[in-house]
Amino acid sequence: MGTIKCIGILTSGGDAPGMNAAIRAVTRSAIYNGFRVKGIYRGYEGLITGEIKEFQTQNVSNIIQQGGTILKTARSKEFETPEGRKKAFETMQKEGIDALVVIGGDGSLTGARIFGEEFNIPCVGLPGTIDNDLFGTDTTIGYDTAMNTIIECVDKIRDTATSHDRLFFVEVMGRDAGFLALNSAIASGAEAAIIPEDRTDADQLEEFINRGFRKTKKSSIVIVAESPKDGGAMHYAERVKNEYPQYDVRVTILGHIQRGGRPSAHDRILASRLGCAAIEALMEGQRNVMIGIQNDKIVYVPFTKAVKNDKPIDRSLIRVLDELSI
Ligand code: ATP
Repeated sequence: MGTIKCIGILTSGGDAPGMNAAIRAVTRSAIYNGFRVKGIYRGYEGLITGEIKEFQTQNVSNIIQQGGTILKTARSKEFETPEGRKKAFETMQKEGIDALVVIGGDGSLTGARIFGEEFNIPCVGLPGTIDNDLFGTDTTIGYDTAMNTIIECVDKIRDTATSHDRLFFVEVMGRDAGFLALNSAIASGAEAAIIPEDRTDADQLEEFINRGFRKTKKSSIVIVAESPKDGGAMHYAERVKNEYPQYDVRVTILGHIQRGGRPSAHDRILASRLGCAAIEALMEGQRNVMIGIQNDKIVYVPFTKAVKNDKPIDRSLIRVLDELSI
């Protein structure tokens, strides 16, 4: 453990349900093990500007059930520059913070890796993103809750789809990853999922129309992963209107509703376990690692692996969806 006396904690990038449970776990575990804890507000931005407060156990009371992040989060352009990171380092020195726990997605963990290496600071990361797109961990904090939110919405959309015999394209988040789309399609009984991992294959829309509508079903729900590359659900709906005008098509973009809400039991437990493990990792002298979970066991994944490697989608899930949507 060496010289670590005070641990700083921040949340960065997109907020995810369960981040508060992670903040609570890191804070309480750190104090339990004899460290001081400082909460850094608004991610790396607050580290640069010095928006920092010392945390006692009661600062994290009553937050395990809350969505969002009490530390707030931000995207900091300045932290991406050497000058910005130097300011952040100076703040750490001034505040007497010796180590950092960063909760966020791949961008945030990339920032932690660069910062940790540049200034020789022990940094560990927790995977906090609804996208589940970090390599080396089976799941991320917020993913389960987001998926539950999606299926609740799709269940409601299905009522209308069935009543009107409509084809619905429901767009979900995930950036360049199809985990949310594919698994929520299975969980909501949707007819198909259009995911980025498959976009290089044969035209997914054509395949689905040919396969899906030769059945007796008159209504259909297709979950589409958002994608800046091809325009997402709107794009597919336009295509159906032009190429298959016989279908009554509608689009629902779920948007930020997917990020909010009380974290599920799964995410609370995951965040609590990973938070405790982050402090244990620092006590063991670990640095530059993301704390992940594989086969229900805590693992340390080097930042470089977690963010650089593409997490593969389990292709057997595509088959499950295909088989069950006949
Ligand atoms: P989500 O997956 O939920 O969007 P994220 O952590 O990937 O979360 P980003 O916006 O990619 O979100 O990154 C958050 C912040 O991390 C950035 O605003 C920036 O401050 C920092 N960051 C990202 N990439 C780098 C980098 N290459 N160097 C330094 N800092 C970085």
